[in-house]
Amino acid sequence: MRAEVIALGDELTTGQRLDTNSQWISRELAVLGIPTAFHTTTTDSLADGVAAFRTAVERADVVVATGGLGPTADDLTRDVLAAVAGEPLTESAEALAAVEARFARRAAPMPESNRRQALFPRSSRVIPNPDGTAPGIDIEIPRAGRGACRVFALPGVPGEMKSMWSAMVAPALVAGRPDAATILFRRIKCFGAGESAIEAMLPDLVRRGREPLVGITAHEATITLRIAARGRDDAACLELVAPTERLIRAALGDLVYGVEDDEIEDAALAALARAGGTLATAEAATCGAAAALLAGAASRGGLDPQRGEPGVFRGGLVLPAAVESATALAERARKELGASHGLGIGPVRAPDGVEAVEIALVGPGGGRTVDHRLGGAGQVRIARAAKTALDLVRTSVQSPPRPGSPQP
Ligand code: AMP
Ligand code: MG
Repeated sequence: MRAEVIALGDELTTGQRLDTNSQWISRELAVLGIPTAFHTTTTDSLADGVAAFRTAVERADVVVATGGLGPTADDLTRDVLAAVAGEPLTESAEALAAVEARFARRAAPMPESNRRQALFPRSSRVIPNPDGTAPGIDIEIPRAGRGACRVFALPGVPGEMKSMWSAMVAPALVAGRPDAATILFRRIKCFGAGESAIEAMLPDLVRRGREPLVGITAHEATITLRIAARGRDDAACLELVAPTERLIRAALGDLVYGVEDDEIEDAALAALARAGGTLATAEAATCGAAAALLAGAASRGGLDPQRGEPGVFRGGLVLPAAVESATALAERARKELGASHGLGIGPVRAPDGVEAVEIALVGPGGGRTVDHRLGGAGQVRIARAAKTALDLVRTSVQSPPRPGSPQP
């Protein structure tokens, strides 16, 4: 089963408005396990709409359309569907009553044009719209030699479209698949290798069509693996997720730093907290980006001092381009701000034409320095360098051995 999403409206084809509905609907379809094969955007004209739907019903089993259900002369989706189904439009008493009731509640007379919103292709069902006047249309278009194509037409207004989707469309699509009523996501967060390198370490896991499905996304060098499990209920989903999570952790080892909303700065501060350490930064290449991440993490618990890792981050210096070494910066941060560990970022050097920033972590037990090759542009470049520095903290700071555990 695959879907096509159609967006109708001159506003969209002329570029005055961005079609966000199709993006949202496709994501929701994916959650239900229905892949979207096509997005079509077309004008408010009857001929274009008919052509779009005729093509869609031939190549998709489910079509979800938005737009063109309003009361004005350019809202033609209902006429388009009647033409495609080869049926006349008939007035729905139920829909007319709903539109009239809406005007009555506002103590306003119903304009004659709104009567159009009660017209439906004869074989279709009304999708009620609790938030607006435009009801949606649910219709099956027969196809020669195979099953019908199910078409849902919803209003263009995103808020109305979304609540109608959740109330009627998603349940209707799930109804046909009782084994897949729930979906559960588990996000595994990684840092320290690129998206394609991580993909190569998990060849069987990121295969398309695998159950549970594992998706991979990258944002400023943080890689998120998203396990999506479908099942009868949450317990069934969790049972599916656990073995896949174990496989991922076994394959990626220390590249995995957290789960769900964990960020690399959270992992760095947690490592320091476990080791009983504190951190100060001196940045001469990243405009204070590392300090901003650490300060954000330290205060993420909001104003509740019981949450987050209060006191681990002692502050940061933001300096002009450094002539000192990263180690000297790290030492300076430690001393000036009174922390056990100092993190220095800078200077940037390009000895062989490749720009790299020097990063150093200095603590009571010594120091470590790495060269990070700068990639990306602007903010992304800065964010990647700052996160690489924080990852050095995460991977370098060792917790003291637990009492009773064997010494290395
Ligand atoms: P319509 O149902 O076509 O009259 O659309 C009503 C309003 O919904 C439009 O004026 C837009 O503001 C909004 N809208 C329509 N289609 C979309 C879409 N695909 N994405 C986002 N907003 C939309
Ligand atoms: Mg419109």
